[in-house]
Amino acid sequence: MKELGITVKKQENFSEWYTQVVQKAELADIRLGIQGFIVHKPWGFFIIKKIYEYLEEEIEKQGHSAFLFPVAVKEENLKKEKQHAGFTPNVFWITEAGDKKIEEKFALRPTGEAQIYPMYSLWFRSHKDLPFKGYQSRISVFRNEMTTRPFLRGREFLFFETHNVFNSHNEAEEQIKDDLETCRKIIYDKIKIPFLYFKRPQWDKFKGADHTFTPDTLMPDGKRNQLASTHDLGQNFSKAFNIKIRGKDEKEQFVWQTCFGPGIWRIMAALIGIHGDDKGLVIPFEMAPLQIVIIPITFSDKKSESKKIIDSCVKIENSLKKLCYRVKFDNSEETPGFKYHKWELQGVPIRIEIGPKEIKSKKVSVALRTENKKTQITISKIDKEIKKLSLKLDKDIKDKADNYFKNNTRNSNSLDELKELVKKYRGFIKVPFCSVDNDGKSCADILKIETDGADICGTLYPKEEKTNPNQKCIICNKKANHIVYVAKSY
Ligand SMILES: [Zn+2]
Repeated sequence: MKELGITVKKQENFSEWYTQVVQKAELADIRLGIQGFIVHKPWGFFIIKKIYEYLEEEIEKQGHSAFLFPVAVKEENLKKEKQHAGFTPNVFWITEAGDKKIEEKFALRPTGEAQIYPMYSLWFRSHKDLPFKGYQSRISVFRNEMTTRPFLRGREFLFFETHNVFNSHNEAEEQIKDDLETCRKIIYDKIKIPFLYFKRPQWDKFKGADHTFTPDTLMPDGKRNQLASTHDLGQNFSKAFNIKIRGKDEKEQFVWQTCFGPGIWRIMAALIGIHGDDKGLVIPFEMAPLQIVIIPITFSDKKSESKKIIDSCVKIENSLKKLCYRVKFDNSEETPGFKYHKWELQGVPIRIEIGPKEIKSKKVSVALRTENKKTQITISKIDKEIKKLSLKLDKDIKDKADNYFKNNTRNSNSLDELKELVKKYRGFIKVPFCSVDNDGKSCADILKIETDGADICGTLYPKEEKTNPNQKCIICNKKANHIVYVAKSY
């Protein structure tokens, strides 16, 4: 028998644990042989499809419509917005077809702005055409990353992006609040991943944006994982791409824009890392590819008893299917013990066991993925009991994640203390800081060197924490105008 289970503890070696779960729980296959390009296997892709479905449903409720752009981007468009042109060093270029050079090389999209906004300049003429809210989903983008990791960083990774156009900056700001609400409803309520919403410092915003906002969580190794980003693009792109409309006053004006990009992969990585345990994957009930597995306990020398057990398993499988659960009767040749481990590793929320004891008592044994015990439930009440167990599972997952998150935010008022906290715990550390505009960058650079790589995540949004008048920047000792969060990042 090949080594089925996870061979390291999550607490002791998170990096190796993560690699093993990705492979052994059948989420991705990295053996394709081109660095940074992975295969999404059915088990993992089911969970990813759920993330997409949640987002699409929520975004459409807000009035967004789906469109689909091709993967090719014109070179001149990538360079039109001056700061956005900062993407070009990481862009893949298509320069040849067969053995011939292409006359006008083009890029594989690193993100959508440079292909969508030239079209926007043709689509809108009047203030009456706005607001316009468009999005594209279930697509890939490409960036030439040097170090890659499944669901954390890839040369090709899964993407979702909204691109919104407004008559005023006020409307753009309202959209940013809606994006925050979308993150709360999907990433926290549905997927049970806690996060803080930051306004990023000016030196670390999206290339071309006025401001960038991100929900960030903490992985079990205490590193920050940015789960999404929302950008207030101001009029930067509308000026660069000439997106103009005739306003109510009949004067021509540039539009206001926002875009929002939940990191599909990053959310998946957080689900794997934060919810998983030493046995493998743990998945919220609604997202599980299989929600219930039924395992028969039979003995080869007791044929007639075995038949009764199998019949009972089939009956229960059918009745649960009728209730619309995703259920599997695992009647394979493997031993019950092997099956327990396999389905635990893959994160199936509920396991039902039926053997001679259960047949006699007209009950079934049930084990919940988040608990280390079995309970007996009466077959006639199975519908109600499964519902209860599914709620218990989701509550267990949420409580565990919330606890971990809460216990990993600390305060510091000096550089020495900060250095020690970063070294000992990582996590988020709140410190007083001089400025989150570009003049604070030199302090951020020093902080990064002193802490061996920690960054300033930003200030809390929408309610920034207040400093008291005596607080000083922990680097330059000037008056602290902000409480910023510091963390090491992926
Ligand atoms: Zn400073």
